[in-house]
Amino acid sequence: MEIRKVGVIGAGQMGNGIAHVAAQSGYDVVMMDAQPTSLEKGIATIEKNLKRQAEKGKISDNEVGGILARIKATDKITDLSDSDIVIEAATENEAIKKTIFVELDSLLKEDAIIASNTSSISITRLASYTKRPEKFIGMHFMNPVPIMKMVEIIKGIATDEATFKDVVSMAEKMGKTTAVSEDVPGFIVNRLLMPMLNEAIFALQDGVADVKSIDTAMTLAVAHPMGPLTLADFIGLDTCLAIMRVLHNELGDSKYRPCPLLVKYVDAGWLGRKTGKGFYDYNHKTPKPTK
Ligand code: NAD
Repeated sequence: MEIRKVGVIGAGQMGNGIAHVAAQSGYDVVMMDAQPTSLEKGIATIEKNLKRQAEKGKISDNEVGGILARIKATDKITDLSDSDIVIEAATENEAIKKTIFVELDSLLKEDAIIASNTSSISITRLASYTKRPEKFIGMHFMNPVPIMKMVEIIKGIATDEATFKDVVSMAEKMGKTTAVSEDVPGFIVNRLLMPMLNEAIFALQDGVADVKSIDTAMTLAVAHPMGPLTLADFIGLDTCLAIMRVLHNELGDSKYRPCPLLVKYVDAGWLGRKTGKGFYDYNHKTPKPTK
């Protein structure tokens, strides 16, 4: 199937990045979010990031306008009805995603593909909320989408080969390299990454070291581009907690229990960069550790 029209659900950190790169790759994009403020913020972020690309000479000033013109923003899911593929990047919450997929399935044309950008939830189970499990797949982009080169592809038990091939081609057209994971909790990336971030939060909770020392150690000693607490803030602490809960519940091993300090930060609404405060307070010129 030729994919031309792309629907994106969610205009948050991931959704606006996916819409940006899809439009830059020549697709017509409709980006939908239930919150008008998220839509406004999402479009503003895309514009800012495109202008930055133009300043660096990666695209021309003319291209910025052309790419933006290919993105339509809406708060109505029905505006996605003629999409060839819809990539869902709403909040990491299975109940929210289930409601979206049930509605989406009923309004999309029969051969349209549904892809989820979920970080950890079973693709097979998400697919079961639709009547098209063979056309349902996991397409897990990395944050920030315009910069990160990898997309994890996850087949559910019923995903057919044609859907898999169409989605791999689309990811490649978007300039990404794919890695294929089995449909297991956390897939490849978050099975390995999240326990490391959670352990860094345990280290902070247990008084092993303060925020700055933990991040400095892992940046300079292990050559990670950013420390684990900075990265957790970047991903979003609500998303980190949701992923740890999926790993813990579904793999049933206590080594995946979410750190109580992570729960406390989420309870406080300190979700990281996106809310201005997490393990660092971003309302300062140089982000200031909050613990
Ligand atoms: P986010 O909080 O930045 O954005 C989520 C968006 O979903 C919000 O704008 C919210 O208004 C919207 N939303 C919620 N319910 C909705 C509904 N019913 N209909 C339409 N929109 C709705 O979160 P994010 O970081 O962009 O994460 C989105 C998804 O991408 C999650 O599944 C997450 O696990 C996954 N993901 C996140 C990262 C990351 O680093 N943050 C990386 C890869 C994948």
